[in-house]
Amino acid sequence: MTMRGLMMDQPLLISSLLGHAEEYHGTTEIVSRTIEGPIHTYTYAEAAKRARQLANALVALGVEPGDRIGTVAWNGFRHFEIYYATSGMGAVCHTINPRLFPPQISYIINHAEDSYLFVDLTFVPLLEGIADSLKAVKGTVVMTDRDHMPETSLPNVLCYETLVRGHSDRFDWPVFDEGTASSLCYTSGTTGNPKGVLYTHRSTVLHSYAIALPDALGLSCRDVVMPVVPMFHVNAWGLPYAAPMAGAKLVFPGARMDGESLHGLMELGGVTLSAGVPTIWAGLLRHMRETGKRFGSLTRTVVGGSAAPRAMIETFQDEFGVDLIHAWGMSETSPIGSVSRLKPGMDGLSEDAKMAIRAKQGRPIFGIRMKIVDDEDKPLPHDDVAFGHLKVSGPWVCARYFKEEPGPTHDEDGWFSTGDVATIDADGYMSITDRSKDVIKSGGEWISSIELENTAVAHPDVVEAAAIGVAHPKWDERPLLVVIRRPGSDLTREGLLEFFEGKVAKWWLPDDIVFVEELPHTATGKLLKTRLREQFKDYRLPTAAE
Ligand code: ADP
Repeated sequence: MTMRGLMMDQPLLISSLLGHAEEYHGTTEIVSRTIEGPIHTYTYAEAAKRARQLANALVALGVEPGDRIGTVAWNGFRHFEIYYATSGMGAVCHTINPRLFPPQISYIINHAEDSYLFVDLTFVPLLEGIADSLKAVKGTVVMTDRDHMPETSLPNVLCYETLVRGHSDRFDWPVFDEGTASSLCYTSGTTGNPKGVLYTHRSTVLHSYAIALPDALGLSCRDVVMPVVPMFHVNAWGLPYAAPMAGAKLVFPGARMDGESLHGLMELGGVTLSAGVPTIWAGLLRHMRETGKRFGSLTRTVVGGSAAPRAMIETFQDEFGVDLIHAWGMSETSPIGSVSRLKPGMDGLSEDAKMAIRAKQGRPIFGIRMKIVDDEDKPLPHDDVAFGHLKVSGPWVCARYFKEEPGPTHDEDGWFSTGDVATIDADGYMSITDRSKDVIKSGGEWISSIELENTAVAHPDVVEAAAIGVAHPKWDERPLLVVIRRPGSDLTREGLLEFFEGKVAKWWLPDDIVFVEELPHTATGKLLKTRLREQFKDYRLPTAAE
């Protein structure tokens, strides 16, 4: 029989993260580019005080534990306070992605039954447009001060600063079960309705510990962290929780995510570590190259959400001395599941071999387990060759969706099907070859659309590329590459095909290349392959007549 241990039974609660930062890193700063314009700077001690004022305000509004509170907001200090005030008092912080289509936003707010909404000035018109369809919302708090309050048709509008300043900064964070819901985030739902992932205090705190580890993101109180990934996209990858845990300074970019604004804020705040999707870093790189600027303090930046092209990792390292850390995850995994860092003994490898490893999606961080299986759910070998459906499990992996019965994505034995297709090598490095629905099926074999896209963007004249499967009479599907060329470039189909030679297997070569001005994207900045497939569904490949 096992024996019960004799340690203090203290639940892991989100309120303790900011409590720690207040007590031991109270003078460390949080810098925000505000929507109103100026840069706002204050400390963890002041943030904690205002979070308590806001918690009192929420209680006064009648908010109860378990209520969902929606936010439609950029990364900034007020959004940070809302994270802690809502979860800390036992309510649920529901971050809403404003880039979704308005009917989807309305669906999400109604599905979550948000009782109050907090909205940045930018998104007031968006909410005005859907206000009539919102069922449970009792009022909206505009995240600004009195002087900037807009004229609005929204019912029951409150001003954030007036609300916060009207309440005491004394509030005892309640102690409750660590399995209590803390925040809610809907997946972008490229197929069907968005699904809610309901995080717990426990999953959030454990995820913070895990991502702070040296071989994960390696957070220290000496770091200055700028999450460019939005706070409405899987809690900004957990950084608003992990930074106070580590005592790291935070820098929030607000609404301005262009290369010039990001670089300016990085220099102003002394940012050492940032995080965002590849398109953000592509924009920043373009700006740096055009202006000849350098980074004063940035040492590393995390990239994920879509595959980071190897060429991007190389450019950051070779031209700017910045370590681009490739990570993988999804809303359902809080989101970080794996990070690609070199193992001991790998330093002696050639630059080429090291880069090939860093371009993979990486090894599971502690807490996450991974496996790949075939269509019959049989485990596949970790030999870097076999690829199959990626399944994961762990204490910060979603067990089922909010208000839904367990579905086919969740196995009875506790594994979650990610919808990604991957290989795993003998060292445990996972490499995403595709999303299950995007893989190109040619003659019973699979071609990785991601690999084709990464190869294409390594060409200096390619800005962005998407590979999709197009119907083929003999092979079932063959790859079509849809490309945005650099303005002014005279790159041809033949020229690009030549560039592919020797870089991918011959039978993976695209059957055709089409140049376009624009590619469709999802609300989280990923290529919208469903739309592309629809657009090219009657496309006749030149090889189809063979
Ligand atoms: P959604 O699934 O709704 O698009 P998520 O933001 O949760 O929203 O996206 C998770 C998916 O993003 C993963 O399943 C994977 O397909 C993709 N993804 C995330 N990180 C990477 C990465 N580093 N490389 C390739 N794909 C990635």
